[in-house]
Amino acid sequence: MAKQQFQSVRGTHDILPDEQPRFKQVTATFAALAEEAGYRKIDTPVLEDAGLFVRSVGGDTDIVEKEMYSFKDRSDNQLTLRPEPTAGVARAYIEHGMSSLPKPVKLYITGEMFRYDRPQAGRQRQFNQVGVEVFGEAAPSIDAQVIILAYRYLRSLTMSGVTVQINSIGDEVCRPKYKKALVDYLKSRIDDLCPDCKRRLESNPLRVLDCKEPGCAKVVEGAPQIVDFLCKPCHAHFTGVLEYLDEFDVPYELNHLLVRGLDYYTRTVFEVYGAREGAQSALGGGGRYDGLIQELGGQATPAVGFGLGVERIIIELDFAKAPLPNKQPVKVFVASLGEPARLAGFKLLEQLLDGRVGAVGAIDKDGIAAQLGRADKLGAPYAIIIGQKEVFDKTVILRDMASGAQEMIPLNKIVEELQKRFAGA
Ligand code: AMP
Repeated sequence: MAKQQFQSVRGTHDILPDEQPRFKQVTATFAALAEEAGYRKIDTPVLEDAGLFVRSVGGDTDIVEKEMYSFKDRSDNQLTLRPEPTAGVARAYIEHGMSSLPKPVKLYITGEMFRYDRPQAGRQRQFNQVGVEVFGEAAPSIDAQVIILAYRYLRSLTMSGVTVQINSIGDEVCRPKYKKALVDYLKSRIDDLCPDCKRRLESNPLRVLDCKEPGCAKVVEGAPQIVDFLCKPCHAHFTGVLEYLDEFDVPYELNHLLVRGLDYYTRTVFEVYGAREGAQSALGGGGRYDGLIQELGGQATPAVGFGLGVERIIIELDFAKAPLPNKQPVKVFVASLGEPARLAGFKLLEQLLDGRVGAVGAIDKDGIAAQLGRADKLGAPYAIIIGQKEVFDKTVILRDMASGAQEMIPLNKIVEELQKRFAGA
């Protein structure tokens, strides 16, 4: 019987060595920009209590109803692979008493998320997000700051055509009034709604606004708009956010249908789009979630954040053929010729690595042409050639791989010489 061949689980992907430079560019650029803006990194476990997401994301959401990877472990704990980062970070904020830290507490994350989604381009079951969460500051300037950070980040990856869609979904004072007006309206058109939305009408009517079914979209065109229902403080907050955004060249559009699929949002919600059209083009989104910390048992704490999909950003950058940083960690290829040079080559290779000069060597039987061919393939800027004569003279030949120029350098000086040439690189 043929042995079983295993494949990656549906909806999951290997990130292969060739794909790592882009992945690293996307995650490392985010980390750098977030840290420059005063955010500190937090890693929370991939595994959380299932109840955390039911409580925070909300039981009537697609994520909780249909998309969570939940299971009982061997001790009967009901666990979930996190579908989004905010709930876990909020849990950690409370658990570690971070409310006693100077406010605002600015945190950033990068990591894997899991959703039982229908796999397609830009939609996986395991995917990565980068994101920020800011706790303890209610001012609209903070909403604007996180939106500008998302925008700056995508621009610094050389992405063009980035736009932000923004809305306010009010708070516990004004949203109920809006919900009622919306439900009254939707009930008058109930026959035109899809079965999901008929159900949502009772459980989560705001979600009808972003239903992609053509029938529902048509109904929604005539629906009351939340901006007309915002209470004074929510209205002032929203105008404040927009005023700050107007100070910068962040291209934003008001989208009164934007509600986001998670229950914990209050006031500002936004999504970020790339230049490519299509259903999967949302690169990320976020908003304010002033009630979440209290909902999870902490003190009332205003908060705002966003999550951006790493794989979606990568698709966008690859599509635009965005440049990759050209960092070549292997600086030199050590080629040795003949038996006596082999040991010298072996030693020199390790000395170079000790001296933090990236180096790879052929401690094997390849001829010089084959070895230089390998150096070329690796993209090493230099090759060191050691033959019998060089071992005898205690020298090496340093070859510039681009020009082919060669020079002779004493063996005991070569590490230092290369360190000098790559200082600061
Ligand atoms: P959400 O909180 O659902 O809006 O997700 C935020 C961002 O994460 C999205 O805009 C996507 O970029 C990314 N994302 C969400 N779900 C998936 C998925 N199944 N596969 C890949 N990326 C996703």
